[in-house]
Amino acid sequence: MEEHYGNEDELGGEILNIVSKCVKCRFCFSQCPVYEVSNGWVTQGASGITQALYYGIKFNCIDKALRDILMRCTTCRSCEIICERLMAGVTLVDAIKKGRQLLMEAGIDPIREQQKVLESLQTLGNPYGKQPLKRTTWAEGLDLKRLDLAPDDVSVLYYVGCTPSYDDRVQNVARSIAGILKKVGVAFGILEMEKSSGDTALVMGERGLFEDLAKKNMISFEKSGIQTILTTSPHDFNSFLKNYPEDIRKINIAHYTQFVAGLVDKGRLSFKQELNRKVTYHDPCYLGKHNGIYDEPRKLLKAIPGLELVEMERTRESSLCCGGGGGRMWVDFDEATHLAEVRVREAMDTGAQILATACPFCLIQFEDAVKTLDREDTFVVRDVSELLFEAMGPEL
Ligand code: SF4
Ligand code: SF4
Repeated sequence: MEEHYGNEDELGGEILNIVSKCVKCRFCFSQCPVYEVSNGWVTQGASGITQALYYGIKFNCIDKALRDILMRCTTCRSCEIICERLMAGVTLVDAIKKGRQLLMEAGIDPIREQQKVLESLQTLGNPYGKQPLKRTTWAEGLDLKRLDLAPDDVSVLYYVGCTPSYDDRVQNVARSIAGILKKVGVAFGILEMEKSSGDTALVMGERGLFEDLAKKNMISFEKSGIQTILTTSPHDFNSFLKNYPEDIRKINIAHYTQFVAGLVDKGRLSFKQELNRKVTYHDPCYLGKHNGIYDEPRKLLKAIPGLELVEMERTRESSLCCGGGGGRMWVDFDEATHLAEVRVREAMDTGAQILATACPFCLIQFEDAVKTLDREDTFVVRDVSELLFEAMGPEL
């Protein structure tokens, strides 16, 4: 059969180069959450996705079918971890993200729900179709400094992110993080003109839009003269660290759990009440598997008086993805079982009454799963910051 080598442009060549390192051992099947919950019918696991990409490029078959295979991936990185251990070291997530970019560049339309998200990011700077002027309404009454409106010598920026800014439920996480920082006496501020980090656009393959949003945020960061950025979301944290322009390296980037764990080490947190309950912690993929931050959130939970931390069987590097990453938050794929429901059941099996996490997407995914499992009366999902703030007492 005659081979067609169309689309072997620079990006296609990079992808082929990555995927050709695969020795087809198939160990990554065992780790892929999408393979697990779809009983293998959606994709043949990580190597199945990348093989489809490989042959899609080789045989110039860049189309919607390939898009639907690639968009199934949550970008959780479980496959890369096992592949690293096996010494093949295929950077599957990088290949999949590059593949999504290749699709965009080839003019393949995004999935309908994702198209709306991309349009909103472009016109409003957030994925939810919300007005930029309402971005900081969550902070009303908290008397927080706006570092872009009034110059200040404050060096810490709390970058809130889109979901905690606009989602009714997740706004409580932003208020808890700001409340903790205020109680401890950290001098910090927020940005009135904050925009999406652009990570959602990047993960959907829209690199141009990501770069535009990154440029706008960088101007705000540089103008406000900050030295440290704290994020709510592991996704924003990861993007600032790994995808932003080189100049961001002058700024110390931290997920809020890292920063607050440092305050615990210095003995700066004090608690007013005991939380006499059992909690289990879910490692968000972009905090744990992508950035190795496993201990700090646990340190925070262990610091709370009365709270008992128990572990799920799949934890830390083996943690099961919530299903919300990789641009899947906005698309309702019809896998046989929803990943978040599997994970909530695992959490309930520990005997805990609380599932704690440290990612807005995980929080939403798990709360939805608790509702569909009809367990709202006996089981709750909380961000680590909410538990900390509750134990520190509500008054500011
Ligand atoms: S674990 Fe790595 S080498 Fe093995 S099949 Fe998966 S991608 Fe290929
Ligand atoms: S990143 Fe996660 S969801 Fe995507 S292929 Fe790898 S294991 Fe599967």
